[in-house]
Amino acid sequence: MSWSLAIHGGAGLVRRDSLGPDEIRTAEAGLNAALDAGVRVLGSGGTALDAVTEAIVVLEEWPCFNAGRGAVLAEHGGVELDAALMDGGRRVGAVTGVRSTRNPVRLAREVLEDGHHVMLAGPGTDRWARLRGLEQVDPAWFVTTARSEQLARVGGSGGVYLDHDDVTGTVGAVARDVHGGLAAGNSTGGMVNKRQGRVGDSPVIGGGTFAWNRTCAVAATGHGEPFVRACAAHRISDLIELAGLSLADAADRVLAEVRELGGTGGVIAVDAQGTLVTPFDSGGMYRGTARPGERHVAIW
Ligand code: ASP
Repeated sequence: MSWSLAIHGGAGLVRRDSLGPDEIRTAEAGLNAALDAGVRVLGSGGTALDAVTEAIVVLEEWPCFNAGRGAVLAEHGGVELDAALMDGGRRVGAVTGVRSTRNPVRLAREVLEDGHHVMLAGPGTDRWARLRGLEQVDPAWFVTTARSEQLARVGGSGGVYLDHDDVTGTVGAVARDVHGGLAAGNSTGGMVNKRQGRVGDSPVIGGGTFAWNRTCAVAATGHGEPFVRACAAHRISDLIELAGLSLADAADRVLAEVRELGGTGGVIAVDAQGTLVTPFDSGGMYRGTARPGERHVAIW
């Protein structure tokens, strides 16, 4: 059995004329570095869950993406970070409203490994992260000049926006390992100018993140609320299991349903056979895929 990996750095309008060559190079370098991290794990026989975790950590650390440092700002001018991981054996860890834990996906992993709970929210997230020895930072460390300017630009309108008009977005990964295990994960700052306490699809299991070894692993990106209403990630799995659809057909159908609910975006997904798909119906989606001897990175 061979391994497969896909990553995303967010879907959205991503106008071609809004990105200069340096921004494209920086984003592509981040996607390649994340693929490298995942491939290192998978290529040496490691698990899909480890590959997804390590790929997402790289993207959280790459400041141009909407996760970790450089994440979009909520209405109060600071970050509230969400992350989730699920493996194909149905182990789950999700966190929302993280404010001081440097790598929210590592905290999601702690929740998953601990196994007592599936989701932590609010102040309890960072408190538990400290207890588990995860690195803490001053909340101001997450805030970049570009994100402060972005909030100043759109905040006055009172609207809540997807982050990908001129910058990169939420990050996520899906993988199948050589043992046949699947995993999916996402990490995000959510939407620009979101209400304090708002939770999108990324940490909602079955909404933006889902994995099951019998069907597929899915990580979604885009306008979170319609993805939650559509139970998008879980529905792709259901369409494979119960309606016999291929991964590609199931993903396309669910994206159409999300569109009917007023949302746009994309998904990265891998099925039990290792097939990878990365459909999106927004202007672009930062993404990358890798399999033994193959690699592809793209925005449009
Ligand atoms: N889906 C994320 C959210 O709604 C945003 C994104 O994908 O960029 O929080």
